[in-house]
Amino acid sequence: MISIEYILQLGYLVAAALFIFGIKGLGSPRTAVRGNHLGAIGMLVAVVVTVIMIQRGGPDGSQPTQWGWVVIGLAAGALVGAVMAKRVEMTGMPEMVALLNGFGGAASALVGLSELLRLGPEILIWDKLEAVGDYHLWRTVLVVAVGATSLIGWVTLTGSVVAMLKLAGKWSWSLSFGGVNLLKAALLAVAVVSSGMLLKDPTQVLWISLLIGSSALLGVIFVAPIGGADMPVVISFLNSLSGLAATATGFVVNNNALIISGALVGAAGLILTAIMCKAMNRSFLDVMFKAYGASSAASSSSDEKRSVRGYEADEAALAFDGARLVIIVPGYGMAVSQAQHAVRELAEELEAKGTDVRYAIHPVAGRMPGHMNVLLAEANVPYDKLYALDDINSAFSECDVALIVGANDTINPAAHTDPGGPLGGMPILDVENARTTIIVKRSLSPGYAGVDNDLFYRTSTMMLFGDGKKKIVELLASVKEL
Ligand code: NDP
Repeated sequence: MISIEYILQLGYLVAAALFIFGIKGLGSPRTAVRGNHLGAIGMLVAVVVTVIMIQRGGPDGSQPTQWGWVVIGLAAGALVGAVMAKRVEMTGMPEMVALLNGFGGAASALVGLSELLRLGPEILIWDKLEAVGDYHLWRTVLVVAVGATSLIGWVTLTGSVVAMLKLAGKWSWSLSFGGVNLLKAALLAVAVVSSGMLLKDPTQVLWISLLIGSSALLGVIFVAPIGGADMPVVISFLNSLSGLAATATGFVVNNNALIISGALVGAAGLILTAIMCKAMNRSFLDVMFKAYGASSAASSSSDEKRSVRGYEADEAALAFDGARLVIIVPGYGMAVSQAQHAVRELAEELEAKGTDVRYAIHPVAGRMPGHMNVLLAEANVPYDKLYALDDINSAFSECDVALIVGANDTINPAAHTDPGGPLGGMPILDVENARTTIIVKRSLSPGYAGVDNDLFYRTSTMMLFGDGKKKIVELLASVKEL
């Protein structure tokens, strides 16, 4: 006869399978919505199974569930989440995602800590009784997992908070002094030694405090020096760490669903980190330890004052007259100005006039992975018009107009001309090869990496100064009159 325990574990297996199919679905814009639904159903199954398991009592038969606390936690979490989601601006999403990564890490670390405080004194008693059987294996797994969840969880929390503040432009300490890597190694050593000491005596407040303190400081020292254009790598790595912390917590509370879902997030985050590193043409270790462009007041390619002519929309629109190929390059400024709908309308108007219009998507455009894809999908731009960097770069030399909407770092030739600079070595969209380049932005100010852009001063460039959406609407009106 099949036991209820067996059925419940089968429920976790179903949840895990749904997570895997869900993540697979997220791999393509066409299947992403279904993937999201599958993942959500998987989580519902996992929650229901867990609630039933709790109701039936833990393996030790003790610990009656205090449902009052569960309800308070659920209500508080739901309220904070709903308020944050309601209030966040679309451009604030990356900061919110960074913060939520940190919350995930903190939740894992707190569960680990509470289990240590709950079980530590009992462990000392069982040690004295010289318990046998599986006890020693269980004890080792528990304390090692608590050490891992604390180390990874606190690093994720403080690192994510620093990342969020950096994205919001509210963090200015680069902390990239000589010996910073030695300090990181020392903090890591303190955290590992503290975990080791807890293995001997899990009740020692000194080692618990040192573990938390060194891990929290490590998160700050680890993220603060990483600057300029490398933040996408850090954000996806922190996302991966939040998953690994959840996996370690799964071992602490002996929950298979947590182990599996945490491992999936950890693995997916690591794969994304590798993709981002490749996109930035950096090695992971270089990003983490070389502090590229840590000082955001980065170089200007020249000290001399150069003049730039600003164009009106009707002048710039003439460049589209008779154009065969137009490539639109969206960037962070498109998100800020919410210009995506106007951009799609302009593209449709050009297509109606017989122009081939494509969108060039740089892998780190905007402030979060896939930022541009999400915005353009929201504006119903067909997926097959979106081209990745490698697939579109050669087309710029055949293109009549490259229309840049609030992008800067991702088109900055300094990536080629200043190999030691913050953007050095990063593959860029080679818009300079287009016959005419129209750049829509409000001023000559640099992009996220803080590097001046030589393109603004080229004779083949037309600067269209102003808010992205306003200028695209003006361009559209002028193109209609051609
Ligand atoms: P950039 O940050 O390089 O440039 C954006 C430009 O948009 C600015 O120069 C700004 O100029 C302009 N802008 C801002 N507001 C408006 C507006 N309302 N209307 C028109 N223009 C506006 O953007 P990119 O997308 O080219 O590059 C992304 C950068 O962000 C890269 O360095 C990347 O590494 C980094 N990053 C990316 C993340 C990711 O995951 N994608 C995460 C974290 C960082 P002005 O003020 O003159 O208008």
